[in-house]
Amino acid sequence: MAEREFRVVVAGAGVSGLFMAETLKQAKIDFAVYEKAGEVGGTWRDNTFPGLFVDVLSRQYEFPFQPNYNWSRKYAPAGEIWEYVKKVAEDRGLTRFIHFNEEILSARFTAGRWLIETAAGSSDIADVFVCATGFLHQPVYPDIPGREDFAGPAFHSARWDHSVPYQGRRWGIIGSGASGVQITEALAWAGCEVTQFIRRAQWVHIRENPHATWRERLKLRLPGGYDREQRRLWKFINEFDRWRLEPGPQRAAMEAEYRSYLDCVRAPELKAKLTPDYNLGCTRIPKSDRNYYEAVQLPNAHIVKGHIARIVPDGIVMTDGSHVPLDVLVYATGFDPHAYMRPMHVTGLNGVTIEEAWRERIYSYGGIALPGFPNLFMLYGPFAPVNNVPVPLGLDQEIGAIMRLIGEARARGAAVAPTEAATERFLARLGDAFPGTVWVGGCKNWYTSDQPTPVLWPLPQNEHRAFFADMPPEDFHFIPIDGRPQP
Ligand SMILES: Cc1cc2nc3c(=O)[nH]c(=O)nc-3n(C[C@H](O)[C@H](O)[C@H](O)COP(=O)(O)OP(=O)(O)OC[C@H]3O[C@@H](n4cnc5c(N)ncnc54)[C@H](O)[C@@H]3O)c2cc1C
Repeated sequence: MAEREFRVVVAGAGVSGLFMAETLKQAKIDFAVYEKAGEVGGTWRDNTFPGLFVDVLSRQYEFPFQPNYNWSRKYAPAGEIWEYVKKVAEDRGLTRFIHFNEEILSARFTAGRWLIETAAGSSDIADVFVCATGFLHQPVYPDIPGREDFAGPAFHSARWDHSVPYQGRRWGIIGSGASGVQITEALAWAGCEVTQFIRRAQWVHIRENPHATWRERLKLRLPGGYDREQRRLWKFINEFDRWRLEPGPQRAAMEAEYRSYLDCVRAPELKAKLTPDYNLGCTRIPKSDRNYYEAVQLPNAHIVKGHIARIVPDGIVMTDGSHVPLDVLVYATGFDPHAYMRPMHVTGLNGVTIEEAWRERIYSYGGIALPGFPNLFMLYGPFAPVNNVPVPLGLDQEIGAIMRLIGEARARGAAVAPTEAATERFLARLGDAFPGTVWVGGCKNWYTSDQPTPVLWPLPQNEHRAFFADMPPEDFHFIPIDGRPQP
């Protein structure tokens, strides 16, 4: 009988899934990708709201294997990122490996392999299962009474209804995060009647977003030019990141700069509403390309700060009894950042499910693996997001590490999982790094929610790279296919 090929199954065809797919293709490993939607792109396919631009330099949001010399702007509009991601999938011949419109419902480690079942009723068997299912993927709707009563169009920012004309409507945007800021700014400048409902003010980065010049594009194409620029960006990220990690003059200067953005707000009452009462950087910072603070001072834009009591057919009623009449309602209320691969059912060794494993707290080893779940890997799992650092850079390191682990496990005819002790050491190391960072100090954000520490990487970027380059072999055990740990 012919020997069965070693096989990897990947869930999700966003940036992470495609990066993994290309790496597996180059390594000549048999694999398949299952994507629940009909197209690639994940975040960039789902989020099509007005005003969405990438928050890191476009140049930083590139797969290392496919440079793009043609970004239109310093920070590309979301549609351009999506076009680039689709082009990568096409150019690299990845779409032929993708099963579109097939959501993976369950994955069970059984007899040394992963048995995977999809909503379409098909199943697959893989030696390795990689969850590239996104960390900002499951939209969250606010728990406000009367949501079903609203008479007009109402949708989440990640499900934008493009059939609704902008003009001639009174728009209500619920949420002060990055999406809420960008949507409000875009609609305000478009001349729409727009009200943003906020519970607390955000720090907003007012930035310039110039078009790319021919000179800049040429520089990248010169011999060695692209690599030189990439190295410069990498250095910048490491140095620039420091103010988030430790108090000092850099942090104070950043706060002063952000505070100065508010100087253009003329009415003291509005300025008070828009002034944050927590430390800069504690939440992911919304980026504004067309000056949000100027936008919300237009006569057609309004900020309502406070708590919403209920949604009524023609608008919103605040807890102070005021009524704001609206025709369209947008929930810019974010995502469940701790859903990860769920609602998929994942079952590891001894029948332990992911729900059981994460009942007390969410954890991982390096954001990529879990004790008790052999040959299961996550891309951007718990503790992987490095604040305001482009996702492709982090993926490069994660995928490199996963490929080394897969290679080792395959050579030993085993499945690999981190040990519990190594996972605890990893978590303790991150836990020790939080004091002094911007993520502690009372602000509530999506990194923290109900977890003991914020669920992100609180160390410099270069330590992220070093962590994956130097994972000690004793951090893992190799489990033969019959399930017994190998010495
Ligand atoms: C509005 C918004 C703006 C952002 N801006 C930036 C930015 O400027 N810079 C930055 O670095 N990051 C940004 N991010 C973070 C962004 O999510 C990542 O950059 C990146 O796109 C994540 O890619 P991913 O492939 O890991 O996840 P996703 O893009 O979420 O893709 C996951 C894919 O998995 C699929 N999937 C999920 N579950 C299943 C299942 N069970 N079976 C099959 N398929 C499944 C989904 O349909 C999706 O296609 C932003 C996020 C949001 C929401």
